[in-house]
Amino acid sequence: MPLLEINNLALEFGRGSAAVRVVDGVSLRLEAGEVLCLVGESGSGKSVTALAIAHLSPAPVVAGEVLLAGRDVGKMSPGELRGIRGGVVSYVFQEPGAALNPVFRIGTLLRETIELHQPGADSNAEALRLLKLVGIPDPVERLRSYPHELSGGMQQRVVIALALAARPKLLVADEPTTALDTTIQAQIIELLMKLKQELGMAILLITHNLGLVGDIADRVAVLYAGRMVETAPTRELLLRPQHPYTQALLRAVPRLGADGERLRVIPGQVPQAGAFPAGCRFHPRCPLAEARCRTESPELREIAPGQSVACHLVK
Ligand code: SF4
Repeated sequence: MPLLEINNLALEFGRGSAAVRVVDGVSLRLEAGEVLCLVGESGSGKSVTALAIAHLSPAPVVAGEVLLAGRDVGKMSPGELRGIRGGVVSYVFQEPGAALNPVFRIGTLLRETIELHQPGADSNAEALRLLKLVGIPDPVERLRSYPHELSGGMQQRVVIALALAARPKLLVADEPTTALDTTIQAQIIELLMKLKQELGMAILLITHNLGLVGDIADRVAVLYAGRMVETAPTRELLLRPQHPYTQALLRAVPRLGADGERLRVIPGQVPQAGAFPAGCRFHPRCPLAEARCRTESPELREIAPGQSVACHLVK
């Protein structure tokens, strides 16, 4: 049984005639110990999809289901939901400074979470172990620090330690490196890889940067305007991307040694939810669009084992 299975998920803000569907028919599967990257520009529906895993999405589920370890999250009681939040799935968000309460020392924050999720554990020893695990230098000293005394990269390591304190089976990291500079980004990705190897934990990494996925992901799913347009094993997707949007995202990744080369951009913008175009939602920006792309929505079809694409031109 997969650790996470999302089937035909649809999420909507608002109700009735004012309802806006922000995610439409997204399906994902994540096995224990696997790393899946969810990729797409801002507004593609990545974050609300990830929040729906722990029934936290501000846009309610209107169709489809989320199964966590085989259980339908939408049918869980409030007590059961509290149990899975942290204990089965933990989140790491973009702004580490906003995730840490500034009036508490790091040690207090960690001990509180450990005592909540690991009753009876030696919370001091566990807090120290977690800071060492996430590579914080001088961990004894850092337990006495306030969040503002740490750099952004160190704060994000603390946030990851807090997420690990509940011993989750799945870590959802939503743009965990976006607010950090490039060197620190690489260190955080390295840390996630180490945690995958040492703890065997599954990771759902959300990013708008396809350049990050090669090192860490087993598989990649690409979202555009609330729909999945391509999913494939990482190597396949990076070497032979099939969907024009995936190809455009890859071309937009800056290349080392490409001095003087103009950065490639994807013309136009992701449409606003509620104003998605008819047919293929990517057609206004797609260089290959044909007449039928403006009226017929392409189905996501499997074209090779593990690789599915939603494009009329991909056979
Ligand atoms: Fe482009 Fe048409 Fe394929 Fe959409 S279906 S990605 S518009 S070619």
